[in-house]
Amino acid sequence: MQSRQTTLKEARRPAPQSWDESRLRLLAERREVIGAIAVNTLASCDSSENPQESDCASLDQIRDVEYSHREALSRRLHKLDDALERIAAGAYGLCAECGARIVDKRLANDPAVSFCVGCQAASESRTSPLTL
Ligand SMILES: [Zn+2]
Repeated sequence: MQSRQTTLKEARRPAPQSWDESRLRLLAERREVIGAIAVNTLASCDSSENPQESDCASLDQIRDVEYSHREALSRRLHKLDDALERIAAGAYGLCAECGARIVDKRLANDPAVSFCVGCQAASESRTSPLTL
């Protein structure tokens, strides 16, 4: 097998084989999340069809939990799709905010992560409510 010269463009990119692994992990998790959303939606339909079997307070609580679980799943699905789009666009592993390379350890921990540590921390300090 011949060794080929690495072009400047290739040298700037993260290792493509790690993209393949990330892509497979993203696709596998995406299937799980879609399955969980389907189960959550069915459970939600079941509980709303028989309101007389539960008292209103607990039914509302169940709906709240189901709703927040479904919201969390939807947000995760969106992040997974974004990461898959970044792979397709050749921009995977680069911070969506500052464009810096996201460290491999961070991507290995969560292949859908879209910000470097610095931008993630800055984003969280902007969005988290003030504690009194
Ligand atoms: Zn950044």
